Amino acid sequence: QKARIGVTGLAVMGSNLARNLARHGFRVAVHNRSAAKTKALVEQYGSEGEFVPAETTADFVQSLQKPRQVIIMVKAGGPTDAVIDELAELMEPGDMIVDGGNAHFADTRRREKALKERGLHFVGTGISGGEEGALNGPSIMPGGSAESYQHLGPVLEAIAAQVDGVPCCTHVGEDGAGHFVKMVHNGIEYADMQLIAEAFDLLTNVAGMTPAEIADVFRSWNTGDLESYLVEITAEVLGHVDAATGKPFVEIIADQAEQKGTGRWTVQEALELGVPVTGIAEAVFARSLSGHVGQRAAAQKVLPGPSSKPSIADRDAFVEDVRQALYASKVVAYAQGFDEIRTAADTYGWQIDLGSMATIWRGGCIIRARFLNRIKDAYDKDGSLPSLLVDEYFADAVIKAQESWRRVVVAATGAGVPAPGFSSALSYYDALRAERLPAALIQGLRDFFGAHTYRRVDKGDASFHTLWSADRTEQNA
Ligand code: NDP
Repeated sequence: QKARIGVTGLAVMGSNLARNLARHGFRVAVHNRSAAKTKALVEQYGSEGEFVPAETTADFVQSLQKPRQVIIMVKAGGPTDAVIDELAELMEPGDMIVDGGNAHFADTRRREKALKERGLHFVGTGISGGEEGALNGPSIMPGGSAESYQHLGPVLEAIAAQVDGVPCCTHVGEDGAGHFVKMVHNGIEYADMQLIAEAFDLLTNVAGMTPAEIADVFRSWNTGDLESYLVEITAEVLGHVDAATGKPFVEIIADQAEQKGTGRWTVQEALELGVPVTGIAEAVFARSLSGHVGQRAAAQKVLPGPSSKPSIADRDAFVEDVRQALYASKVVAYAQGFDEIRTAADTYGWQIDLGSMATIWRGGCIIRARFLNRIKDAYDKDGSLPSLLVDEYFADAVIKAQESWRRVVVAATGAGVPAPGFSSALSYYDALRAERLPAALIQGLRDFFGAHTYRRVDKGDASFHTLWSADRTEQNA
């Protein structure tokens, strides 16, 4: 009997995904470049469902029912191309290749186009939730054609996380849309974590609290608007004590954050699209800065902080201010991320239902959070919302947080505690709502040195140039 679907690449993600499929009653063909992993999977977990192991790619393809569906879970980049090429040689028109790795969406677009010419369906799929999600229900973001989703969707929806009976999986949009949305999801995750880290820093270095005390604060925050997986595990990490030294665990971890690259991609693509994702960019740069050990050591020796630090009169009030600032800054980060998705959809011709993206992030993935329901509500009310920040609920939330937010940024600046996430989010809020921006002066300067022209507030779309080096008369440009 042939298998319903196949998984090739049986490292952490692939083996867990294969087990998830088997546990849901799908007969799964399994394959890995080195056969030892295939053998180990079947030996250890064979009892969980029906696995059809194959040593060679040819046997693997032969073991699948037609039209064939294969999920690739190998290293992103070159290895994924190699596996696609090998499979494509052996597959027939109508068969489908699904790439569940962390591919760049541009690679996904290229691959889909190439495979379409050979009559093969290609579905680039974002899968979030790491090892645990892959096994017990990830958030799944499939791109590719609507026709492909008709065949593949029921399988993916069955193995995805479920929240309130709704699967955390939906067809995101054509070609690279799924991997694009997964990329922005990861960028938002960077921003979320940076904001949490800044809150921790402020509570430590402005309010003078211990990690154990801050763990309790996060635990209480997890019962309100901020309820989320990341806030929950922050309390866990902050409450953890190092077994060897007896110190708070967070104090013995080297303070250099690493990154695999999806946050950087989110910012690079935002630059290309002209979308200001300042919260995500600050988060990516904050991680880079933390890794510049030599510069930091040199600066520590010569650059002092403020001579006196403001004292916090009411600690509980400050904790509440930080909570408000965290929530408002988080709303800004999501508004920016959704702005990037919306702009990309316009640019690449994807029909993305923004509210559904919030729905499929409610479970399985790292940024799962209570407030995602609010994003869904906002887009249900108005599908063409220009920014999440102008939705009634979110506008109300940031307006309510505004005074706290400003006090926290002032306190951070006064104490010399870096808060690039909080302060850039507040600047974004102030820039977006400003009646006049100093961009007018920038246009004047550009026209002065480069004759780049400007538009006037009183003359519509017409362009003008001032003869700065002559008699300074104005000309139609
Ligand atoms: P890895 O990214 O570590 O990749 C290892 C797998 O790739 C092994 O099965 C390996 O086979 C295979 N492989 C590597 N090179 C080749 C090649 N040239 N030809 C054939 N197979 C090759 O595995 P993970 O399970 O960590 O991740 C799989 C994918 O999922 C990646 O794209 C990753 O980015 C993504 N991912 C997603 C996460 C998430 O939370 N969504 C978390 C982690 C990863 P062999 O055993 O023979 O070496």
